[in-house]
Amino acid sequence: MTATIIDGRAVAAALRDRVAGQVSTLPYRPGLAVVLVGDDPASAVYVRSKDRAAAAAGIAAQTIRLPAATAEAEFLSIVARLNADPEVDGILVQMPLPPQIRNTAVLDAIDPAKDVDGLTPENAGLLQSGRPALVPCTPAGVMKLLADAGVVLAGARALVLGRSVLVGRPMAALLTAADATVTVAHSRTRDLAAECRRAEVLVAATGRAEMVRGDWIAPGAVVIDVGINRLPDGRLVGDVAYAEATAVAGAITPVPGGVGPMTIACLLENTAIAAQRRRAG
Ligand code: NAP
Repeated sequence: MTATIIDGRAVAAALRDRVAGQVSTLPYRPGLAVVLVGDDPASAVYVRSKDRAAAAAGIAAQTIRLPAATAEAEFLSIVARLNADPEVDGILVQMPLPPQIRNTAVLDAIDPAKDVDGLTPENAGLLQSGRPALVPCTPAGVMKLLADAGVVLAGARALVLGRSVLVGRPMAALLTAADATVTVAHSRTRDLAAECRRAEVLVAATGRAEMVRGDWIAPGAVVIDVGINRLPDGRLVGDVAYAEATAVAGAITPVPGGVGPMTIACLLENTAIAAQRRRAG
């Protein structure tokens, strides 16, 4: 079998166009503020592509760049200013943060109505309660890819590999809400290969380059590779050994060009949603 390639770039382009069309009908420009601390080159590249995509969708994006030594109190005062700014509809804090700034303090400070990353305790709790408000962009993007590929989730055995707040946990909540039978695996899971082999839908989000081998995948399974890993030779690979997996899977996302473009497109969609909800009062 040779897997069907799920084209994240095409699905993301269509979503960006839809968001741009919707934004063009609004009597204001939704505003997105991205806060970047330090000079991590990968984060800087990512923030630049967010800026470009936001501009193309008619969203007014501003990036606030702060030195790596920024104190937590100063950081929180910037978040408070953005919370109070009526022109800002979405706030995204680019992770990772330097050690003196606690992730939890930042997430507790962001106004949930402007939390376009969907990571504040309120939005995370609503998602787990089956009442999604603003949903984290990467798992939301995965759900759209699965829908576009016509994958039937009701009753399907799904395995989420990874349990992070950013990807694994919200991914499991969304798949559960779509009536899949969901297993969450992580670094303490016994016999990971066997768990993976049982899955009809496998979502890998570990940050471990090519750890999911071809013989971990059930013939015909749908494989979504969230991982983005830079190898020493400079190549970008996912958490799935792509060449091996394409020989077994029914459908698979490539890296790059799979989940990554969806994350940015969903960020734009969340910003448009947040703007409309907030400005409607
Ligand atoms: P993370 O916070 O480091 O979480 C990784 C998860 O994988 C943890 O739950 C960890 O288990 C599990 N894990 C790590 N090593 C494992 C192993 N050997 N066996 C089984 N489970 C293992 O990472 P993340 O933020 O979720 O991101 C995961 C990957 O997705 C990264 O490559 C990241 O770059 C990528 N990513 C991509 C996008 C995108 O737009 N495409 C967006 C976000 C993240 P424990 O909980 O037991 O430690």
